[in-house]
Amino acid sequence: MSPLPLITAQTEEKLLAFLTEHGHTKFRAQQVLDWVWRKRVTTFDAMSNLPPALKNLLAEHFRFHTPEIVEIHGSADTTRKFLTKMEDGSLVESVIIPAAVAENGEKSERVTLCVSSQVGCAFGCKFCASGLLGLKRHLTTGEIIGQILSAETIAGKRVNNIVFMGMGEPLSNFDNVADALEIITSHRGLEIGARHITISTSGFVPGLKKLAAYPRQIRLAVSLHGATDEVRDQIMPVNKKWPLSQLIPALEEWSRGRNQMPTLEYILIRDINDSPKDASHLVRIAKRLHAKVNLIPYNTVEGLPWKRPSEERCRSFRDAVHKARIPVTMRYEKGHDINAACGQLRLRKEQEKNGWTPR
Ligand code: SAH
Ligand code: SF4
Repeated sequence: MSPLPLITAQTEEKLLAFLTEHGHTKFRAQQVLDWVWRKRVTTFDAMSNLPPALKNLLAEHFRFHTPEIVEIHGSADTTRKFLTKMEDGSLVESVIIPAAVAENGEKSERVTLCVSSQVGCAFGCKFCASGLLGLKRHLTTGEIIGQILSAETIAGKRVNNIVFMGMGEPLSNFDNVADALEIITSHRGLEIGARHITISTSGFVPGLKKLAAYPRQIRLAVSLHGATDEVRDQIMPVNKKWPLSQLIPALEEWSRGRNQMPTLEYILIRDINDSPKDASHLVRIAKRLHAKVNLIPYNTVEGLPWKRPSEERCRSFRDAVHKARIPVTMRYEKGHDINAACGQLRLRKEQEKNGWTPR
């Protein structure tokens, strides 16, 4: 018998449908959600203003569960990465990123969580640890939400900013991610504004089309990493199926009608995509999309051949983009020392378990 669904994975709409089917009112659904998300109870028994019959009904059809936290790396005021174990033993990693100082110099209350959407990844980008073991499975809505609940336990604070930049390609797990987004943004859920949520995609065009039709103003980041098909083909197999001639129009379609621009993520990898010519190709795409650019000097992954360019080379790439009046930031992966790039912690753990070495 499969385990009962998690109460923390129910969107308002789904819970309401369940309760009305069992003869209850909308008001009851609101009360239940209030207990789960405002009061943060972890048993149905604790929902003291519900009639006993309703508590029993809920307990017969749903359950509470939080994943086991197996490792925490880093300290409270820096990037903290943690690994949780799902009920089937799968390992999932997430990263808590506190923003110490805001742009205006004041201490910011921002707590960002980087969540995973899948165990592993099917897309197999050549530089990425998440893709190395292939895709094990999608994460369920409850497992995506569970990472937020675990992070709040670890941090002792509410998470108020979420980026889908952990393991996996979120747009290829669209339905579970969309339900998680409903729970995250709902004012009867985690109540985090859509503009505080970023989905990152490697360029999975069918998923981008679904996202274009999605009504909420979620932010979008695109892992471009190469501004020509030649470079992208070399490091990102996704580009063979959906080359730039399909990706760019899909991004334009997403931008249209929502008054939002994507951010182009661009890892700088030595001798692969870091030349002045690469910078000018990138500028052309950023202009066309009115996009911002975020440069990330490559974070070395053990067993993979790719290297980070020299600091000077990274800076001159950034300067070239900046000179072309494209808004550009360069972000060194925080927590380089705790394997903060996506998938690295799980990869190491799986290696320890299996004595496996990367290709
Ligand atoms: N699959 C989605 C979401 C994961 S986001 C996507 O690819 O966009 C994870 C980000 O970290 C991606 O931009 C990815 O390209 C980047 N990344 C992966 N390995 C990295 C590494 N070793 N150093 C720096 N960034 C890396
Ligand atoms: Fe998957 Fe993204 Fe890593 Fe590519 S970069 S393998 S799409 S997680």
